[in-house]
Amino acid sequence: MKTKAYILMGGLLMTSPIFSQAQSIGQAAMDAIQLATLSDEQIVQLSRQAVEQMDAQNPVAGPGDPYAARLNRIVARHRTVSGIPMNYKVYKVKDVNAFATADGSVRVFQGLMDIMTDAELLAIMGHEIGHVVNKDTRDAMKNALKRSVALNLIGSGGGTLAALTRSQAAALGNALYGAGFSRKQETEADDYGYGFLKRNRYNVLALATSFEKLAAMSGGRGGGRVAEVLSSHPDSQRRAQRIRDMARRDGLKR
Ligand SMILES: [Zn+2]
Repeated sequence: MKTKAYILMGGLLMTSPIFSQAQSIGQAAMDAIQLATLSDEQIVQLSRQAVEQMDAQNPVAGPGDPYAARLNRIVARHRTVSGIPMNYKVYKVKDVNAFATADGSVRVFQGLMDIMTDAELLAIMGHEIGHVVNKDTRDAMKNALKRSVALNLIGSGGGTLAALTRSQAAALGNALYGAGFSRKQETEADDYGYGFLKRNRYNVLALATSFEKLAAMSGGRGGGRVAEVLSSHPDSQRRAQRIRDMARRDGLKR
């Protein structure tokens, strides 16, 4: 918030901290109004722009890449979920991570693909799709907008938004990447992922074993950083147990 006011007001703030605080509060109120006027469709547009910028800044696996081929094969039956066209890509980076955005984009990092089986990747895709279907990704974008300077430049009117500049899209992407989800949202995405596997007659226990692998990693093995899938909840072991309990109740324990 301070950064935002700083940009709006320029050097003036430096001489008057009290004035700057008042301006920040005014700015926050203005932002709240602007955020409230943004439609889900506009949030989707902004998310798409942020993801396109992230794609431009990361090594995306091309069509001939074996990682892209593997991911495409795994998600082949899930190109559209609940009417949302999904868009899957691999980032060829070592981090153990995956994330989804409100426009139906799912990005999977090479580091995650390297440690997970196909069944486990599918389970994690189910979890990520859950964040989109449950509109967690929409809420994350709203949080990112609050945290980034982009909102000031979008304008408060309805209708079609102006395209963001590259630096605005990058700022928004960074804010989005850091926004994260609440523990409740994570639990609900786990539930969605479990239901996704069950509905499609996949092995539901793959969700549990994927969490168990992440739990083992967070124990301090070297290599890539573990992010979104783990960041909001260091209790991967507990999540895995919860899935195992659900499977047992459903008679799906193998
Ligand atoms: Zn999650």
